[in-house]
Amino acid sequence: MNDVLRQWHPGLGPKLADFYRDLHRHPEVSLAEHRTAAKVAGALEPLGYQVTTGVGGTGVVGVLRNGDGPVVMLRADMDALPMQEKTGLPYASTDPAVMHACGHDMHTTCLLGAATLLDRAKDSWSGTVLIVFQPAEELSTGARAMVADGLFDRFGKPDIVLGQHVGPLPAGMVGYGSGPIMATSDDLHVTLFGRGGHGSRPETTVDPILMAAHIVTRLQGIVAREVHPSDTAVVTVGKLHAGTKDNIIPDTAELGINIRSYAEHVRVQIKAAIERIVRAEAAASGTEKEPLIEWHTSAPLLVSDPDRTAATVAAFTEHFGVENMFPMPVVTGSEDVGIYGEAAGVPTVFWFWGGIDRDRVLNALATNTVNSLPSNHSPEFAPLIEPTLRTGVETLTVAALTWLGAGG
Ligand code: ZN
Ligand code: ZN
Repeated sequence: MNDVLRQWHPGLGPKLADFYRDLHRHPEVSLAEHRTAAKVAGALEPLGYQVTTGVGGTGVVGVLRNGDGPVVMLRADMDALPMQEKTGLPYASTDPAVMHACGHDMHTTCLLGAATLLDRAKDSWSGTVLIVFQPAEELSTGARAMVADGLFDRFGKPDIVLGQHVGPLPAGMVGYGSGPIMATSDDLHVTLFGRGGHGSRPETTVDPILMAAHIVTRLQGIVAREVHPSDTAVVTVGKLHAGTKDNIIPDTAELGINIRSYAEHVRVQIKAAIERIVRAEAAASGTEKEPLIEWHTSAPLLVSDPDRTAATVAAFTEHFGVENMFPMPVVTGSEDVGIYGEAAGVPTVFWFWGGIDRDRVLNALATNTVNSLPSNHSPEFAPLIEPTLRTGVETLTVAALTWLGAGG
């Protein structure tokens, strides 16, 4: 394995760093990853990969066949977020409305690095490497779109799916969990119907703002009072819209709610509790019209296969040293990577790796201020280029070699 990783030299690191800075400067939101996809395809083509673009929208697939053996899929996501960057980096986004705040530019660059190493080191493994650059992870729709566009029929079904996410851990460290590691995410949109009127004559109205306020408060009781204390769950009201003017009582109010859960029975329990509370508060307000409740896309529970994870983590530990391995608590974030394994009926192994200066994290730990470190989706999220890049290339390469066949 070390022979393969020595191929990092000469010069791959600086080349990838340039590629990363370019992606970071030019972020593209979900389903608009045209420039990014073209750059990725352009970099993959000169290697030995058979490259196909436009899979599931802007997705890019690379296939490297190298004799008999397992098919190992490596996946990265490419989309950025609709927000303004405030890192002050010299290579900050050139678009004031879009930022790579989740590190998907780092994921993309590391996958390209791993694809390069695996191509350079073809003597040391056998099988097929399936490289997947996915659009629209932030909408939880990209993985589904690629599968629906015939990903596995057209390019072959993998034996295992591998992926990773960069986060606010010390740079150079690898975080791992086993079994359910990231939450199921469900969104719902609620429209409340009241009766509008003049702000000075509330007796002629049914006020949907008061109705919404009671619902927001009451929803906080689901996790606090109804879910078992040993189960992890989150209910967040992320949107609340009503009204146009101080002295008008509007006739509708809208709520956007997101829930995260780790077990199907908890998910079912929370969904039922939200519907019960919304309907009951509407009834308590004396409204004549039932609220409209719409459930939207959800990301599935992400399960890192326990046996495959144990073997992959053992390979990481051998390569990086046990001092660089970090057992993770459950993450309440979500990922749509689980859709591939689910669709193909094969195991997924997923891990995290760090992008924040070690001393900064240690300092934050010492002063109990870890929550103030900029994490994913913060306008100040700025992974250190090194050693983050090299670590992310090596994790993917080590994991791929763990599951590919031995070379001849
Ligand atoms: Zn994200
Ligand atoms: Zn992400």
